[in-house]
This record gives sequence, C-alpha cells and structure tokens, in this order.
Amino acid sequence: MGRVLITGAAGLLGSHLCDRFIKEGFDVVAMDNLITGDLKNIEHLFALPNFQFYHHDVTTFVHVPGELDYILHFASPASPIDYLKIPIQTLKVGAMGTHNLLGLAKEKKARILIASTSEVYGDPLVHPQAEEYYGNVNTIGPRGVYDEAKRFMESITMAYHRFHDLDTRIVRIFNTYGPRMRLNDGRVIPAFIGQALRGEDLTIFGDGSQTRSFCYVDDQIEGIYKLLMSDYVYPVNIGNPKEITINQLAHEILELTGSDQKVINKPLPADDPLQRQPDITKANEILDWFPAVSRKEGFAKTFEYFKNLNDEELFKKEH
Ligand code: NAD
Ligand code: UDP
Repeated sequence: MGRVLITGAAGLLGSHLCDRFIKEGFDVVAMDNLITGDLKNIEHLFALPNFQFYHHDVTTFVHVPGELDYILHFASPASPIDYLKIPIQTLKVGAMGTHNLLGLAKEKKARILIASTSEVYGDPLVHPQAEEYYGNVNTIGPRGVYDEAKRFMESITMAYHRFHDLDTRIVRIFNTYGPRMRLNDGRVIPAFIGQALRGEDLTIFGDGSQTRSFCYVDDQIEGIYKLLMSDYVYPVNIGNPKEITINQLAHEILELTGSDQKVINKPLPADDPLQRQPDITKANEILDWFPAVSRKEGFAKTFEYFKNLNDEELFKKEH
C-alpha cells in the first residue's frame, strides 16, 4: 500500500489516523514529542512490524530513512489552554515544523496533507463558514498564536505547491472529539464530562450562547482519508454542520452522564469565537463525504471511554 509518516501521532487525531492507516495495510511511521500527546494512545501498535515510532520534535530537522509516499502533519497543540500555555512552541510547530515537513515531502516526492483548522476563520463574520471566507482573526490576541500559525501553514503549503510543484492537501478541521482526548485538556467536551464524573459543577464560559458544531473522530478520520486520496489541492472543511450552543451542550452532557450538577458561568476567554459551523458542500461534492455519527452516539462512545479512566487520570489537573 505504501509508507506514511504521521506527525502528532500520540494525540487524538494522530493516533486514530495511525489505526486507520495500519488497517488499510500501510507501513506507518509515527512521530511525536509528547508535549500534549500520550504514548498510551498508540502503544497497542508498538508490536506491529509495520509500525515505527520516533520521539522527535518536528520544529527541529526531520529525518526519516527510507521512502515515504504520504506525510500527514498533525503535530500541534490543539486546545486553547494548551496553546495559551505554550504559545511559542505553537507558532514554531505551525511555521518551522511545517517548513521541515514540506522539505521532507519534497525530498521524498511524497504527497503531504496538513492539518489546518476552522480557527483560520477566527471569530467569523460569515455564517456558516465556507472555504472562500478569508476570516476575521485578531493577529495579536492570545489565540492569534494558533490561528496565525495555521494561516502561515496554509500559505507555505500553497507556496510549495505552486513553486516546487509539491503534491499537497489542506484540511480545515472543525471541533472534533472522541476517545483518547485528554480529560484535562480544557476542550469543552472532556471538560464537561470530567466535571460531571468528578461531581463538580459544569463551567460555561460567558453566557453559553456561543455555538460550536462537534464532529465525531471516526467521521473526521474518514474525511481526512478521502481528502488525502483525492486530487483536490485547495482547503476543504471537514466537520459536522449540526450546530449547538454551549448551554445546550452542557445540558446534553448532564443528561448523558446522569449527573445532577449545576452549570456555573465563568468569564469568556478573549477572542472566543461566537459562532462556528462548517459549510461542507465541498467535502460533500468533491469527496462524497458526509458525517454519519450523531451527537448522541458519539457522546455515548466518548463517555464510555472517559468512564473507564482510573481516579489518577480523572483527578489529574495538569498534563
Ligand atoms: P492533540 O493535542 O491530541 O495532538 C497533537 C499532538 O501533536 C500531540 O500528541 C503532541 O504531543 C504533538 N506535538 C505537538 N507539538 C509537536 C512537535 N513540535 N513535534 C512533534 N509532536 C508535536 O490534538 P488533536 O486534536 O489530535 O489535533 C491534531 C491536529 O489537528 C493539530 O494540528 C490541530 O491543530 C488540528 N486540529 C484539531 C482539531 C480538533 O478539534 N481536534 C480542530 C482543528 C484542528
Ligand atoms: N468552554 C466552556 N467551558 C469549558 C471549556 C470551554 O464554556 O470548560 C467553551 C469555550 O469558551 C468555547 C467552547 O466551549 O466557547 C468550545 O471550546 P473548546 O476549547 O472546546 O474549543 P474552541 O474554542 O477551540 O472551539
């Protein structure tokens, strides 16, 4: 089938991508510096002859012996509290990390797919967000480190495509959740489930009227796989267009967990987008992709995963 390098392999999306490519019969080279990821997400693959792991920071020179057919660059802090805690590394992995991987793709004549984000649209003034929208990002705000790193990542990827004729793909990922998220990574679904499991009140930032559209990880992986195998070089949104407010989300999580905790309000973080919903017409038309997993089903699978964590993991505050 071929050989694929996956960066950010010990994280949520990277680890599920490793599983998918192994299942498809590829040789998988996984790379991660474990800054927000965890080896337990991929340790079940370690004994396989077609799986290799490199503990490496992709912001320093990346060397992989042998041929590569595909590179999937997923290394980057992804949760707002992670990238606010490590802002410089976030900028570096989007900029220098992407540059290193584009260079590697050029050397190996490999196709490269980079993980961009709905955050390139910032706090969007257009709703839902289609790929043609240029976005509304505060370059100097605290979230700018992530948003601008990803915007640079898209620009340098297109420059390599145009200037070096490199075979590139860009996926704009909208909020994706599922088993293997870190319970304490600050993203809203693990945050609410963790609070419910610990018997704490659910913390809604702001008045909870802001919206998000949550995609189950299996749907996201299918979309990414289809995009990689397509011949479309421009950015494609992959996400679930079913939009809900954070208030609604809190109530769905309370119902799911059977918890009788209260919801409490905390200040809204700076530049927190008020609304977010992908326009997935392109993914639908070009890739014949549409999300298949309902929130109810996806939340139930995710809750099952978190329920089985031990107390040490449940009460761990810092990564
Ligand atoms: P995650 O934090 O679970 O995984 C990211 C992985 O990247 C971690 O294992 C981390 O250790 C690794 N990493 C970070 N910096 C690195 C470096 N310099 N060198 C090597 N490894 C490094 O996050 P995720 O949700 O799996 O996100 C994966 C990718 O998808 C990221 O690029 C993220 O920006 C993008 N994305 C995710 C979402 C989402 O909702 N999950 C949305 C938009 C974009
Ligand atoms: N959020 C919240 N309580 C929490 C964590 C997050 O109300 O404990 C809100 C956050 O302010 C944002 C939404 O939930 O409006 C989604 O946050 P997340 O960090 O999951 O993703 P992003 O903001 O990157 O979409």
